[in-house]
Amino acid sequence: MDQDHLGFGTKAIHGGQEPDPAFGAVMPPVYLTSTYAQTRPGEHKGYEYSRTHNPTRSALERNLASIENGRFGLAFSSGLAAIDAIVRLLAPGDEVVSTNDLYGGTYRLFTKIFERYGIKFTFVDLTTEGELEAAITERTRMVWVETPSNPMMRITDIQAVAALKKERDFLLVVDNTFATPCLQRPLEFGADIVMHSATKYLGGHSDVVLGAAVVRSEELHEQLAFNQNSAGGTPGPLDSYLVLRGIKTLHLRMDRHCASAMNIAQWLEAHPKVDLVHYPGLKSHKGHEIAGRQMAQFGGMLSFTLKSDRQDDAFSLISSLKIFTLAESLGGVESLCEHPASMTHASIPAEERAKVGLGDSLIRLSVGIEDEKDLIADLEQGLSLI
Ligand SMILES: *Cc1c(COP(=O)(O)O)cnc(C)c1O
Repeated sequence: MDQDHLGFGTKAIHGGQEPDPAFGAVMPPVYLTSTYAQTRPGEHKGYEYSRTHNPTRSALERNLASIENGRFGLAFSSGLAAIDAIVRLLAPGDEVVSTNDLYGGTYRLFTKIFERYGIKFTFVDLTTEGELEAAITERTRMVWVETPSNPMMRITDIQAVAALKKERDFLLVVDNTFATPCLQRPLEFGADIVMHSATKYLGGHSDVVLGAAVVRSEELHEQLAFNQNSAGGTPGPLDSYLVLRGIKTLHLRMDRHCASAMNIAQWLEAHPKVDLVHYPGLKSHKGHEIAGRQMAQFGGMLSFTLKSDRQDDAFSLISSLKIFTLAESLGGVESLCEHPASMTHASIPAEERAKVGLGDSLIRLSVGIEDEKDLIADLEQGLSLI
């Protein structure tokens, strides 16, 4: 079925899906099998071994390609396994330029593992004009963007970065975990590879770890599929099924995440004990205008600092919340809060954290889809204690 003209919600539910040919099952069966019968050596139905291909995973991969408006989707055992396969497109001596408020796990993989294999990483402020151009050298083969970024919610202009490819030959990769394709589709702005931690919004229910990459180029797909199969960081069929099921309600969930996050951001901004609120939907946010152009809505993630700027006060607040669960991760139906400096971003050196304003009182919220009045009441009682 030609699906290009369909709306996002229709693609989320039907993208790459047909009723199962065996019995007409409306949901793709969970094919719990490692291997597939062959009639003669090499004669089979397209499946030989489940590290290479599995029909449930294929259903998810087709769906991912559809919702990102790409041509090929690839699923991995985690977001980091997807990042690993993408960086392995490079060779020793190649350079990568990325943002200086990168997801902590990505930063660790780049600097602690791949630097040992001779790949060089430079971290700059992609939101300040000219910094990226100045960091690109003859050997730059990849630019790695995260927008909105984590946890400062900075916005990078994807189209502006893609425009630099005219003069320089690099692959533009966008980690689209925070926005999801419901709000932002980087391939449409000229990115070469979109990557996801599907553990977050795509899965949406905090019950599975999975990663994804989506591309339009056949050549890139071939290389990534080769890396995927060779290194073997592939998801099992049950995990693939859970993410496929999650994606079917992505558009409904995102509407609620975004609406509540916007109202909570405005409420926090007016609160006397709160200092700065980082949410791209606020007019006070530096990236507000670009976000308005490249995102359909402003997302469900926000962070803020306290006037007191004492780590103790931040700890007291997040430990006293009753509906927001104190936990790492994000993007599930339930609201979460966390302290980036000591939790998700502890692997980033303190001086790097300071450079981007990631201070000791910074609190990050993943706004869930509970009733907004209950979430605000919870934050109010927490703030009243400090
Ligand atoms: C969680 C996350 C990752 C890593 O994904 P895993 O599924 O945990 O391996 C990468 N990028 C961002 C922005 C994330 O939030």
